[in-house]
Amino acid sequence: MVRGPDERGAVRAAALRLSPRAPGRAHRGTGSREGEVPAAPRGVTTDEQRAWLSAARRCGGRCAACGRPLAADEPVYVERFMLTRMVPVEAPIGAECASSGLLAETGGRDPERCAGCCRPIYYRAVRWNRRLALCSRRCRYRYVAARQAPMAREG
Ligand SMILES: [Zn+2]
Ligand SMILES: [Zn+2]
Repeated sequence: MVRGPDERGAVRAAALRLSPRAPGRAHRGTGSREGEVPAAPRGVTTDEQRAWLSAARRCGGRCAACGRPLAADEPVYVERFMLTRMVPVEAPIGAECASSGLLAETGGRDPERCAGCCRPIYYRAVRWNRRLALCSRRCRYRYVAARQAPMAREG
């Protein structure tokens, strides 16, 4: 019995049926996102923006994008900013400054709570090396102090 081209063709057709859009798109198990490109980090252009961003990251309680003070229980959305040209940093922003994409991404979910100040925090679906929900460095210190674990301090 000789295997003819018909049989090979049938096998290939069956394989294609199993993965309809396989060609050209490698299926790598790199994470939970499905063909979704994360939004690019926001740029930081002015000194004023830089000051708001660093103040928000350091102490929390204000929007990193516009500097607006936030109420104690006001939710924040964690956005990424390009503080330098190389590495994006995460900072909390108010709902007024959250992009429509960020709002859509976090819309159907319950917020997490900052481990330092209990403020509701929304993170993007795509997570970046995060273990605890913390809105700022001050809250990290607060959390660490509460746990009495000074070794976990970060510079
Ligand atoms: Zn804002
Ligand atoms: Zn906090």
